[in-house]
Amino acid sequence: MRQINPQYLDELRRVVGPQHVAVDPGERHTFESDAFTLVRGRPDAVVFPASTEEVAGVARITAKHGLPIIPRGAGTSLAGGTIAIDGGVCVSLTRMRQILDINLRDRCARVQAGVVNLHVSQAVTAQGWHYAPDPSSQMVSTVGGNFATNAGGPHTLRYGVTAQHVLGATIVLADGSIVALGGTYDDAPGGDVLSLLVGSEGTLGIATEITVRLTRTPAAIRTQLAIFDSIDDASHAISGIIAAGIVPAALEMMDQATLTAVEQWLRLRFPLDAGAVLIIEIDGLEPGLDRQTDRIAGLCRRHGARDVRLARDDAERAQLWMARKKSFGALGRYGLSYCTQDGVVPPSRIPELMRFIADVGARHRLRVATVMHAGDGNIHPVLMYDENDPAQVRAVVAAGYEILDRCVALGGSVTGEHGIGIEKVRHLERMYDPDTLAMFERVRRAFDPDRRLNPRKVLAGGAPCVELLRPPKGIPA
Ligand SMILES: Cc1cc2nc3c(=O)[nH]c(=O)nc-3n(C[C@H](O)[C@H](O)[C@H](O)COP(=O)(O)OP(=O)(O)OC[C@H]3O[C@@H](n4cnc5c(N)ncnc54)[C@H](O)[C@@H]3O)c2cc1C
Repeated sequence: MRQINPQYLDELRRVVGPQHVAVDPGERHTFESDAFTLVRGRPDAVVFPASTEEVAGVARITAKHGLPIIPRGAGTSLAGGTIAIDGGVCVSLTRMRQILDINLRDRCARVQAGVVNLHVSQAVTAQGWHYAPDPSSQMVSTVGGNFATNAGGPHTLRYGVTAQHVLGATIVLADGSIVALGGTYDDAPGGDVLSLLVGSEGTLGIATEITVRLTRTPAAIRTQLAIFDSIDDASHAISGIIAAGIVPAALEMMDQATLTAVEQWLRLRFPLDAGAVLIIEIDGLEPGLDRQTDRIAGLCRRHGARDVRLARDDAERAQLWMARKKSFGALGRYGLSYCTQDGVVPPSRIPELMRFIADVGARHRLRVATVMHAGDGNIHPVLMYDENDPAQVRAVVAAGYEILDRCVALGGSVTGEHGIGIEKVRHLERMYDPDTLAMFERVRRAFDPDRRLNPRKVLAGGAPCVELLRPPKGIPA
């Protein structure tokens, strides 16, 4: 077992308080994995700071001792972004959960990084505002984790990803210095360094406080459920809606396997023989919305929808969203492990990709269910497997490579929102040429010359690939 140096532990205890440093193997066990289930790595210590100054103090100690430092929010990363492959100190931001300031006149809120996404909206709902980025994990994932992964969600189609809703941030750098970036409004003074930090997955700095934009809750909303016999028809309807110049607030798809899992759990009266359903939401001012829902229903029917239902009230609307947002949970009830992939293709290529995913699943004998933020071509095939069966584990890795390769070949990307983490380091290398990767590496080293911040994530930086995640035979490294 790795020896933990008592000297640095004492120093950490002095900064955050002895009760906020976890060193027992049992306490650290929770922190050796996140929602990416294929790889584990236990940190040597976990600290729970309560303020920016405490995070900076921890960073100074890790700098002095040359230790890896791994920021962590709620640990819902689906790309293994928080896994401490080389040990080191995990900085859990979960004690930093205060909403520090709400400023409706300037449409913003300043929050500590460990605040749960949904809690921001809940704090301003009564006044008619909300925080727009809504990852399906929003009940637990943190504003800091969303910042670091540039999280998206169902409403990204209309409202954009996290980057469009971050105005400023306080960042602790690898050496323990504290920098304030951005402000409380767009175009705050200074170069736009903040944009580099959003989506940097904890490799450039640790966000401790974030100023987010608040969005006025729309006056009226309509949510429809369109039911199709086949995924092909549903996919063509998506392209049809987009080609018609309609930008819904959300346009989500669930395939039959997902629908079945959701229905067996939540009993929402979804038709189990449907090939796929779309959840389509539009919002805005009341006049005109009914005309738009009629248009969408017409387009869906033209592309083969057998039924298009309009949610009659808020309760029915909430049910549709519960079905979508709890779909991973529903699949989890099968008792298998699952790996949720995250790729992007132009929406017009969705039918082709869906056929390919079905073929990959069949060839590797894996159960696959797919949900997607269909409007922006962001697919999430969920690959189910038995983690005690090494052949199935290898099959999941191989299937993931094949699917993401195909996304790139179809003009897309290897991640839409979950990030690169530890999972997709090799995939990223397949997407970018060596000069571009070298530039990314120089940017990283400008912030963190020793590469101690979340090492082995995003860019390999010369480190070997985690054995299991090597590209399988037949796929060039
Ligand atoms: C059921 C489920 C549904 C999901 N749905 C979506 C979805 O719709 N859209 C989406 O985008 N993602 C989704 N995800 C993935 C995940 O929830 C997001 O990536 C989320 O942003 C992670 O937040 P977190 O607080 O859990 O961060 P963690 O998982 O703890 O960390 C994620 C990454 O951010 C870094 N990090 C965390 N906090 C900080 C910080 N304060 N400063 C610097 N770096 C930090 C970590 O080192 C790591 O690299 C889903 C996950 C699950 C399990």
